Amino acid sequence: MINIRSQREVELLRQAGKIVYLTHQYLKPFIKEGITTKELDKKAEKFILSQGATPSFKGYDGFPATLCTSINDEIVHGIPGNRKLVNGDIISIDIGACYKGYHGDSAWSYPVGKINEDKEYLLEHTRCALYEGLKQVKPGNHIGDIGYAIEKYAKSHQLGVVKELVGHGVGCSIHEDPEVPNYGIPHTGPVLKEGMVIAIEPMLNLGSAEICILDDDWTIVSEDESPSAHYEHTIVVTKTGYEILTGE
Ligand code: MG
Ligand code: MG
Repeated sequence: MINIRSQREVELLRQAGKIVYLTHQYLKPFIKEGITTKELDKKAEKFILSQGATPSFKGYDGFPATLCTSINDEIVHGIPGNRKLVNGDIISIDIGACYKGYHGDSAWSYPVGKINEDKEYLLEHTRCALYEGLKQVKPGNHIGDIGYAIEKYAKSHQLGVVKELVGHGVGCSIHEDPEVPNYGIPHTGPVLKEGMVIAIEPMLNLGSAEICILDDDWTIVSEDESPSAHYEHTIVVTKTGYEILTGE
């Protein structure tokens, strides 16, 4: 079932989204060579709690941390640990926060120090792919229009579209209906309606789209070990388009 949120609920989702956004802003200056992903995780958890919210991912299906921290060829669901960031890495940080029963979900990929041109290209165009998907969001359009736009943009930039993982509805649960794939056929899938809240989240690889799961049963990596990026916003469908809930 796809939920349509009332104005009161959208306001709570807006507050949850804002906390996720602020957590990203808070972490940014710490994303430097030498810091461990566990240290980033601790900072994020403390910050989210200080905002009167709780981390959405901690304990979700048994996930052990606040952040998903995925470095280089890791696509999503990396578990924070003792690995130190080094210059030239890229790290995707996925953050979920729950405020008064409502969630926000946003991932962003960050460079660590100076990164090579290939990684710059990957980050830039994965971010652009997210905005290509967002452009399709308005009442009457379909979920398939979003995926089609993302896939078309990714393919025209020779990036691999991860298909096993998809965006989703967001509300009183971090993952709700509908699924929001990063591929699709125009004019197919559920119709977008005012008050629907969804997370759009392209995961693109510099190489092939094939994936593997590491032995920790969480971390998903690109099979060919090419770098991967992930950008995600939670948005609400408005009368004429959309409002980003996890942005400024
Ligand atoms: Mg996320
Ligand atoms: Mg998500």
